Amino acid sequence: MPAPPRPSIHLLPGHAKRLRHGHPWAYSNELRMDAEAKALPPGSVVRVLDVGGEALGCAIFNPHSLIAARLLADDPDAVIDREFFRARLEAAVALRARLFDEPYYRLAHAEADRLPGLAIDRFGDVLAVQANSAGMDRLLPELLAALDEMFSPRAVVLRSDSPARTHEGLERSVSVASGVLDGPVEVHEDGVRYLADPVAGQKTGWYFDQRSSRSFIARLSGEGRVLDLYSYSGGFALRAAAAGARHVVAVDRSEAALALGERSAELNGVAARCRFVRAEAFAEMARLAADGERYDVVVADPPSFVKSRKELKPGLRGYRKMTRLAATLTAPGGYLFVASCSHNVEPQAFAEAVRRGLADAGRSGRVLRAAGAAPDHPQHPALPESAYLKSLTLRLD
Ligand code: SAH
Repeated sequence: MPAPPRPSIHLLPGHAKRLRHGHPWAYSNELRMDAEAKALPPGSVVRVLDVGGEALGCAIFNPHSLIAARLLADDPDAVIDREFFRARLEAAVALRARLFDEPYYRLAHAEADRLPGLAIDRFGDVLAVQANSAGMDRLLPELLAALDEMFSPRAVVLRSDSPARTHEGLERSVSVASGVLDGPVEVHEDGVRYLADPVAGQKTGWYFDQRSSRSFIARLSGEGRVLDLYSYSGGFALRAAAAGARHVVAVDRSEAALALGERSAELNGVAARCRFVRAEAFAEMARLAADGERYDVVVADPPSFVKSRKELKPGLRGYRKMTRLAATLTAPGGYLFVASCSHNVEPQAFAEAVRRGLADAGRSGRVLRAAGAAPDHPQHPALPESAYLKSLTLRLD
């Protein structure tokens, strides 16, 4: 029996232009949300038509999401199967192979890799998959078949627990889709070996996005004293220690993350120079400052302070205060790295909060580097808001 024809959704007048110019989404108020469209199961693959009936491509569609249609391919009738995913993933992996010597990276970064709402992190032969759109969730069997065929992974972990899933009306859960995973996996970054837990760790188990900044900071650390605030499993701390830092303190509130960091320090033979401290970062900064502690390098890479737009003002005050405390702990002539992963905070607003924090601390300095995420987290040019990560590295007087 022939398959039923692919359903079509219709753009309202005046809304085709943005898509024609390369934007990958149509919002629900830009579409004719008639009974037929509303009845489509979330995640259906549809043809997207303009007012004149001309097709703009095929998309995954979710009538319950503000981002109702996400373009998958230019061909309205493209077959979305294992082969489709294979082609997309081959392009994604070819890019990463250029960037990195070893297979530890974000393998697919959503719209920028033409896989809307999908993130995949690669830990050698273990993959962690995050489907954040109803369409990708429905297409998981085809995706998993492609991953199996291409990588023969030891295990594939489905991290279907990201908060973004609630916008798409999806359940949140974590499972091992195939293979067996009986403990943490390794991550290799420029000669350093870390342990990460793709099942129970935060996000997919590892923050690949700060990799380039970790290299930069390791270089600046020299033989100095380093304070890594919001350290997770010691991403910055261990790079600095491996590069020769004589004393490294990592602070985080997650016991599990610190425990993995301690094990990683041993793996790299730098445990004697590293200390892992479980504490709330602001309280620990205040305590260290009161004790007169100073470090040659201070890193502050916190979780998002602005999870929604209405948190913008208090969140910016948070970045300002964080900068003030971290600057106080930075020795004269030392380096300060501050970051924000809040997509609701514009780079300029973040820079302004940092400037004020420095002034509050009575410190002056210069910005050496403004950075975003590493290039295995590419950005779709039409979605500047997807550039969530920003950081500044300063040298203070
Ligand atoms: N710098 C890390 C990533 C940091 S993610 C890397 O390179 O891998 C943010 C971290 O902040 C998480 O590990 C989380 O456990 C920790 N965290 C969140 N709130 C905190 C708080 N109030 N005090 C200390 N740590 C906190």
